[in-house]
Amino acid sequence: MTEPNTLLGPDDPTPFRVHPASQPSPFILVSDHAGRAVPARLGNLGVPMADWERHIAWDIGIHGVGEALQKILGATLIEQVYSRLVIDSNRAPGHPTSMPFVSDGTDIVGNREAQAACRARREAEILHPYHDRIAEEIAARKDPVALIALHSFTPRMNGVDRPWHVGVLHHRDTRSAHIMLDLLRGEGDLCVGDNEPYVLTETSDYTVPHHAEAAGLPCLELEIRQDLIADTAGQNEWAERLARLLPQYWERLHQK
Ligand SMILES: [Zn+2]
Repeated sequence: MTEPNTLLGPDDPTPFRVHPASQPSPFILVSDHAGRAVPARLGNLGVPMADWERHIAWDIGIHGVGEALQKILGATLIEQVYSRLVIDSNRAPGHPTSMPFVSDGTDIVGNREAQAACRARREAEILHPYHDRIAEEIAARKDPVALIALHSFTPRMNGVDRPWHVGVLHHRDTRSAHIMLDLLRGEGDLCVGDNEPYVLTETSDYTVPHHAEAAGLPCLELEIRQDLIADTAGQNEWAERLARLLPQYWERLHQK
C-alpha cells in the first residue's frame, strides 16, 4: 500500500481560521491554541477521549474570548484550528516539545510513534501555513500594528494551584508588557502574573519571538486562567475587559 502524499485530506479543515477586520485596528490577534482538530489520518493519536477535553489538547476558553474580542475591536483574528497535541504552533519547527510524547501526565502515543515523514507533514501542512498567514497579515499593514497573542492556562499544574487570574508574558518588549501589567493591576480585582505562569523566551515560544520581537513590533502575550473563561459569560467578560484595556495600552505606548 502506498502512503498518501499529504496529511490533510478533503474532509480536514484548513489549518487556520481568519476573522477579518471589520474596522481599522492596530491589533492583530493571534491564537495558537484555539482549536483541537486532528487530521483524520492521525485518528485520536492514541489519546483517550477524556483527555481531549483537557487543557493539554487546546487552550480552554480562548476561542470564545478571541471571537468576542475580535467582534468588539473589529480587529483581525487568526486562529490555529488543529490541536497543540498534533503540533504546537507556539513552538519553532523541530522543537523537542513541538509534538509532545507526554503532556501533563498523558502519553501521546501517536506522537511517540510518528515517523519523520509524518512530522514533516504536520509542519508543512499545519504549522507553516498558519505562520505564513500571520506573516502575510503583518506585511500587508501600512500603519503600525501590535501583535496580541491570546492564551489560557490551567488553574492547577503538577499538583500546584496557580493564583493568577491573568498573566503577561514578555521578553524583549518589556515596555508593552509593563503598560499592560499596570492596566491590569489597575482593574483592582485581579491577581496579575508578571511572566507567570510562564516566562516568555525565544526557545519556549515561537509566535511572539518570530513575528514580533524579531521585527521590533510591539507585542503582548496574554494568558487567562481557564476556569474564568470556561463558559460564554466568562469569555464575554474577559473579551470586554481586554477590548477596554487594549486601546488604552496602545495610547500609552505612543505617549512620550
Ligand atoms: Zn496557549
